Amino acid sequence: MNLFDLAGKVAIVTGGNGGIGLGMARGMASLGARIVIAGRNAEKAGVALKALHDMGAEAIFIAADVTKKADCQALVASTLEKFSRADILVNNAGTSIRKMPQDFTEEEWHHVLDTNLTSAFLCSQAVYPAMVKAGGGKIINIGSMMSLFGAPYATPYAASKGGIVQMTRAMATAWARDNIQVNAVLPGWIDTELTQRARQQVDGLHESVEKRTPHGRWGTPHDMAGIAAFLASGASDFVTGTAIPVDGGFSIGM
Ligand code: NDP
Repeated sequence: MNLFDLAGKVAIVTGGNGGIGLGMARGMASLGARIVIAGRNAEKAGVALKALHDMGAEAIFIAADVTKKADCQALVASTLEKFSRADILVNNAGTSIRKMPQDFTEEEWHHVLDTNLTSAFLCSQAVYPAMVKAGGGKIINIGSMMSLFGAPYATPYAASKGGIVQMTRAMATAWARDNIQVNAVLPGWIDTELTQRARQQVDGLHESVEKRTPHGRWGTPHDMAGIAAFLASGASDFVTGTAIPVDGGFSIGM
């Protein structure tokens, strides 16, 4: 018995063309899953697809702006057209704007909420009928340490990531009888394009994260592969509604 076998399964990863999404896609691909990368940037996706193909995985890119309901529905429809199934959805697409709360425009607020939270709701709704038809499925939502903590420059980001945890719990209760497990992953500081931008804006961020994280280092996209493998596979069939930190100990102390 291989609890982690994903052979034949199809995983949609929003924002899977780099960073955490690609790290998780690689984790699932290493267990046999076929991967659908969804994002806006086809050029970046080419690099991600090459990485997946180089490891022998079957992987395709579908262009989608997941803030748009029509794109989320088209993403699932195209996945079903290509593979006839959609077993796993990783709601990973995300963005961040650093400002004090009094400085955000309404548009910026909506942009962050739409990208980080509404997109996960819309994609989950879009994939639900296919999962019900298949007798079950796995939804993995990407939260953050900002699901747990506040920070001065992160008001809409923290609101969206806190929302991810509560949306996860609500959907998990609603869809448990459909054998759909819905869980959230809360990454600590992971070295990606998103955090490279933050490091350019904040002096000393690199060192302060190293100092504050019990493991004494930044996470890498590869550090996210194992949790994706677990939550996407039969190993987690009785695990639902959780929010699991993958953070080198950041959330448990100094
Ligand atoms: P990246 O910036 O590397 O990746 C974000 C991805 O989201 C990109 O691939 C981007 O694709 C995609 N994306 C953004 N907007 C949209 C959209 N409207 N439609 C489709 N795709 C979109 O960041 P990370 O890998 O760091 O972040 C991934 C997730 O992890 C995010 O939800 C982030 O909040 C979360 N996270 C990251 C942490 C970190 O330390 N890095 C810590 C905690 C959480 P494209 O380029 O095509 O637009």
